[in-house]
Amino acid sequence: MNKSKLHKDTLVIHEGYDDTQHHGSLAVPLYQTSTYSFETAEQGEKRFSGEEAGNIYSRLGNPTVRILEERMAALENGAGALAFGSGMAAVSSVLVHLTKAGDHIICSRGIYGCTFGLLGIMKEKYNISHSLISMTTEEEIEKAIRPETVCIYVETPINPTMELVDLKLVCEVARKHGLAVVVDNTFTSPYLQNPIDYGADFVLHSATKYINGHGDVIAGLLVGKDAEEIQKLKMTVQKDYGAIMSPFDAWLLIRGLKTMPVRMERHTANAERILAYLKGQKLVENIFYPFDQSNPQLNIAKRQMKAGGGLISFTVKGGKEGAQTFMDSLSLIKIAVSLGDAETLMQHPATMTHSGVPEADRLQMGIEDSLLRLSVGLEHADDLIADLDSAFSALTQKYSTHA
Ligand SMILES: *Cc1c(COP(=O)(O)O)cnc(C)c1O
Repeated sequence: MNKSKLHKDTLVIHEGYDDTQHHGSLAVPLYQTSTYSFETAEQGEKRFSGEEAGNIYSRLGNPTVRILEERMAALENGAGALAFGSGMAAVSSVLVHLTKAGDHIICSRGIYGCTFGLLGIMKEKYNISHSLISMTTEEEIEKAIRPETVCIYVETPINPTMELVDLKLVCEVARKHGLAVVVDNTFTSPYLQNPIDYGADFVLHSATKYINGHGDVIAGLLVGKDAEEIQKLKMTVQKDYGAIMSPFDAWLLIRGLKTMPVRMERHTANAERILAYLKGQKLVENIFYPFDQSNPQLNIAKRQMKAGGGLISFTVKGGKEGAQTFMDSLSLIKIAVSLGDAETLMQHPATMTHSGVPEADRLQMGIEDSLLRLSVGLEHADDLIADLDSAFSALTQKYSTHA
C-alpha cells in the first residue's frame, strides 16, 4: 500500500503510529515522563553525541509528542514538525529562528493581536522592524522589501476580517528575493489549506483551535518544508527557549485531530447556512466569508482553500453599542474569544482580541467598532440561527425605540 497516497481523513487517524511497537494498543499511549533511563553509561554517551537515536529527556523529544509531530508534518505536506506549548510559542520560536537584531519582517495587513504584540517587543528589544502591507500586487510586496528583510509573515484568511492573501503570489515574490515565508494557517486547519504546496517554508497553527477542536488545550504546532531546518530549530530555539508541548496535551490533540476532517465539513456546512441567513438581515452592514459569492477575492479562495471553514465576521448597525447589544442578546452562542470549538463562540475584536492594537492600526486593519466575529460550532444550524434571530430582534427593538 502506498502510504503517500493516503487521504487526510486517513492520515489524521493512522500517520506516525505503529501499534506493534506499543503492545498493540489501539490508542496512542501517553508517555507522561520527564526523562528516560539508559541501559548503560555508554548508551547515554551515544545518545548525547547523536551516534545513537533514542530518547534522552522530554524537552528534547517524547514518543507521544513525536507521533503528533509526524502526523502534522504529513497533513501539511511538510518534511518535519515541532510541537509547542501554545500557538504564540510557535510564532515566537519561528520568528526568533529566522531573525537577528536589525532585521526586517514583512507582514500581512492584519495579524493576530499577540503576534502584533510580539513584533512590538522585537522592535523595542532587538530593533527588528516590520511593515504591515496588503500584499495584493507583486509591485507592492517588492516595494516593501529592504536589504535587511528576511521573511514574509502571512495570515490568510486574516483574523478577523477574513481578507485573503494570495499564497502563490507571495511565495513567488519571496523566492525571487530569497526570503522565507511563514504562514499562520490556524483559521483554515490543515484540512482546508496547505501553504507548503505554494512554496511556504513554515506553516504554523494555534492547535488550541481547529486541530484540537474541543476547547480544552492551549498548544501550537510548526511544520517546515525542510527537514534540516526543522531539526536545527528543534536543537536551538526549541531546546533552549524551551516552549515545548506537554505529553498530555499532545495526547489530547491526537484524540481531537482524528475528527478534524469531519468537524471541518460540519463547521463549513453550518457557516454556509448562517451566511445565507445573515444576507437576509437588514441590520447587517457587511459580511466577510471567503466563499461568499459576492466576495471580490472569491477566485483566490477557490484556488487555495478547499472550503470556507467555520469563521464568519460581520458588521451590525449601531457601532460598538450595537455590537455589544447584539452579543448580550444571545443565549446559546457564547461570548468568548478562541475559535474552532464544538461550541459556537462570538467575540468583539475591537474590545477583545485586538484591544491592544492602537486604534489607528486597528482601523487600518479593517477592524471597525461594529465588527463581530463568529466561530461557528457543531450545533444544529437551525438552533444557531434561532439564537441569532432573537439577537437581531433585540437590536431592531433598540433602534426602533431610539429612532
Ligand atoms: C489563537 C491564535 C494564535 C495564538 O495561539 P495560542 O494557542 O492562543 O497561543 C495565533 N494565531 C491565530 C490566528 C490564532 O487564532
